[in-house]
Amino acid sequence: MSWRRYFHRHPELSFQERETARKISHILESLGLEVRTGVAGTGVVGLLRGSRSDAAVALRADMDALPLQEATGREFASLNPGVMHACGHDAHMAMVLGAAAILAQERDRLPGAVKFIFQPGEEKPPGGAKLMIEEGVLEDPPVKAIYGLHVHSQFPPGTVAVKEGPVMAAVDNFTVRIRGRGGHGSSPHLGIDAIVVACEVVLALQTIISRSSDPLQPVVLTVGTIKGGEKENIIAGEVELSGTVRTLDSALRADIKERFEQVVTGVTSAHGATYELEYLAAYPVLYNNDRLLEILRSLDLRALGIDGLSSLPAPSMGGEDFAWYAQKVPALYLFLGARPSPGEAYNWHHPSFDIHEGVLPTGAALLAALAAETLKLSP
Ligand SMILES: [Zn+2]
Ligand SMILES: [Zn+2]
Repeated sequence: MSWRRYFHRHPELSFQERETARKISHILESLGLEVRTGVAGTGVVGLLRGSRSDAAVALRADMDALPLQEATGREFASLNPGVMHACGHDAHMAMVLGAAAILAQERDRLPGAVKFIFQPGEEKPPGGAKLMIEEGVLEDPPVKAIYGLHVHSQFPPGTVAVKEGPVMAAVDNFTVRIRGRGGHGSSPHLGIDAIVVACEVVLALQTIISRSSDPLQPVVLTVGTIKGGEKENIIAGEVELSGTVRTLDSALRADIKERFEQVVTGVTSAHGATYELEYLAAYPVLYNNDRLLEILRSLDLRALGIDGLSSLPAPSMGGEDFAWYAQKVPALYLFLGARPSPGEAYNWHHPSFDIHEGVLPTGAALLAALAAETLKLSP
């Protein structure tokens, strides 16, 4: 609990998690682990060698906070103005450290190694996971399985929710810069109004979802920002749009990208405008591994303080860079219910987001049990 409160008090933005990294390495060293720092910038990896260490199971925590002014009013609220742990990553770090403390006690009985991955920049696509993988975090010793956990402020404390197959969507982020021709607001015929073109682009993009994609296939296209214009009597010469596309199917993902370019090309050229498009493939679809799901189901969850294990009926259209690990090794991503009480359950990324701290030891025990059991089954 004190670890979570420390991280909560000292939140840092994506890829700037320097104090967070220092605190984590200090704790891991005090537990007697081998520690590697500076992975993907501010990432930290702790390695606990068991009776053997030719293969490892990994537990991953994300480290970054969000650009939000905290409004929880808690006594351990953020000391960094405009920065807040509003996604529960403070809790994730505390739980993975807790799992390290538990497993360090039983290291001689572990038939393999456990890697504790503290990853920067989950909130900033394409995320720290990809960079950590490129810097060898899944090698030496090779990682045979990886677990990731996210607190969920809407589910009852101490419950676990998981889903087989696809859990989170693929994320593509785009920026479109539309260029028209500026001029005096009283003479539209002498300019090309980038605002009118941008408005048509926004509406036409939505028809990709409503008119040219299979209604039984989940897909989201959101334009999140629109910026342009200088003054009420100046025709805007340039407008920038940015947004995100979420899909669960790779063929559909490719189709949407193609249609996106067709729509932007068609609408802008109809008005004599031009454009520049950046279309960034941020995260792949996150798939849960069946065998790791079986390992979770085989655990004595009651003994770990878990009240129930439920199956999520549908994937989330949210994205997670944990998906990059799942592309490389068997992976399981689960949700730990942490609805605060008393008080209202605010959603992730809300300035009043909070969790029930009673779930921290439960999450730590669960992660430790998953790692130990996975090593026993596949030394
Ligand atoms: Zn988040
Ligand atoms: Zn998160």
